Order: sequence, then structure tokens, then C-alpha cells
Amino acid sequence: MIQLSNIFKWYNVGGNRSFVLKDINLTISEGEFVSIMGPSGSGKSTLLHVLGLLDEPDEGSYQFLGQEVLRLKEKQRSALYKEHIGFVFQAYHLIDELTVYENIETPLIYKNLKGSERKAIVADLIDRFGIVGKKDLFPSQLSGGQQQLVGIARALATTPKLLLADEPTGNLNSKQGEEIMDLFKQLNEEDGVTIIQVTHSEKNAEYGNRIIELLDGQIVK
Ligand code: ADP
Ligand code: ADP
Repeated sequence: MIQLSNIFKWYNVGGNRSFVLKDINLTISEGEFVSIMGPSGSGKSTLLHVLGLLDEPDEGSYQFLGQEVLRLKEKQRSALYKEHIGFVFQAYHLIDELTVYENIETPLIYKNLKGSERKAIVADLIDRFGIVGKKDLFPSQLSGGQQQLVGIARALATTPKLLLADEPTGNLNSKQGEEIMDLFKQLNEEDGVTIIQVTHSEKNAEYGNRIIELLDGQIVK
């Protein structure tokens, strides 16, 4: 599904290159559940954004589902994202002015789905996530755990093959975090969704089948 070869990313700081990713080589197969760990500033978020087509490396090759991503035009890359990728953010990134229902519906509008199709998909997700009673509330009226559920439901609306999550339980209490991890495990095992998460928690990392450790922009383990 994913093959990163010799990926470099840097920023120019005072005329020098400051490397964020240094010669990353990584293969991830469909059906895996991978956790990325490492100290703050080691490049975890940047790597996840590169994997999710939200950030471009400066050098290297990224084959995603058989396509060389770095050769695609912006429009093609965005189409590939909409078709196959769901992204869950640590701080939820919900749209404050939209209700729970409307937040989950957003990626389906971007995908140009008909109203009736959108309605069926959103209703299913709201039911599955047990947030029927919350569908007309705004994000500010929900607890952190509930907001993250909405963020995950939104990421899943397009039935992505690949779910990427940047510290999805970082702002949650341990019970809420465990519920999210159980949900990820179920999505991975029962629905076959490939998952890559960034986490600081050893316990959360162990829900996956593989742990990748970053240090100073390099995979060290
Ligand atoms: P992590 O997720 O492991 O905390 P990040 O991927 O967020 O790491 O960041 C990796 C490094 O990249 C950090 O040292 C950060 O300071 C640096 N960085 C991120 N964005 C920029 C930028 N726009 N300019 C310069 N350095 C940056
Ligand atoms: P949790 O224990 O999951 O963090 P909270 O104690 O924050 O949950 O919230 C419990 C209930 O209160 C939830 O059902 C949520 O919808 C509701 N709630 C939380 N914050 C607000 C708010 N600012 N306004 C209205 N309802 C809220």
C-alpha cells in the first residue's frame, strides 16, 4: 500500500538545511496497524502528514497504491486523498459553526455525493458511534471524547482504505482513550482499514501490529 524510499524533508534555517525527515525508508502493507513513536520534535507529525498527502517531502519517492505521489499535480493528489484517506487530528479540527451531523457530512459534500447518499452514510455513522442524541449539537457542546468520536466518524465517512491519526487520544482521559483504541482495533480487524497512528503511549502503541520509532527525523527501530 505504502512505500517510502529515501524521503528527506528540511527547512532552510539561516542558509542551512535543518532536516526534519532524513532518509526515511518504510513499507506498509494493506491491513496493518502501525504506531509511530518518538520524542517531541522527532518528525512524527511531519511523517504522518507526508503519508497522508498533506505535506510534501523535498526528496525521495512515495508510492501509494501503486502511484508515485510526488509526481502528481495538486488536483490529482487531492482527489487521491478524498478517495482513500481519512485523517484524525489530536485537537479534533471540527468546524465550530457546523453541527455534529454537518461536520460528518463535510467530506461527502467535497466528494460530490448526492444528498440522499450523504444522508444514509451520515445516519449510519451517527448510529454506529452512538451519538444519535448529539447530532444537532455543535462541537462546543460536546465533551472531548465525544468531539474525537465525531472527528473519527468524519474521517471514516468516505470509507477510506487508510486511516491516519495524530495522537488521537492525546486530549482524552484514559477511559475515553481506551474506547477510541478499541474502535481502531475493530476498524482494523473487522473492516480491514489500514491504520497508522502517532502516539506517546506505549499502551496505545501495542494495539497495533508494529511500532516504528523516530529519532531526529530517522527511523531508529
Ligand atoms: P513531532 O511530531 O515528532 O513532535 P514534528 O514533525 O512536528 O515532530 O516536527 C519535527 C521538527 O520540524 C521539529 O523540530 C520542528 O521544530 C520542525 N519544524 C516543523 N515545522 C517547521 C517549520 N515551518 N520551519 C522550521 N522547522 C519546522
Ligand atoms: P466526559 O466525561 O466524556 O469528558 P463531560 O463530563 O465533559 O464528558 O460531559 C458530559 C456530558 O455533558 C456530555 O453528554 C456532553 O454532551 C455534555 N456537555 C459537555 N460540555 C458541555 C457544554 N459546554 N454544554 C453543554 N453540554 C455539555
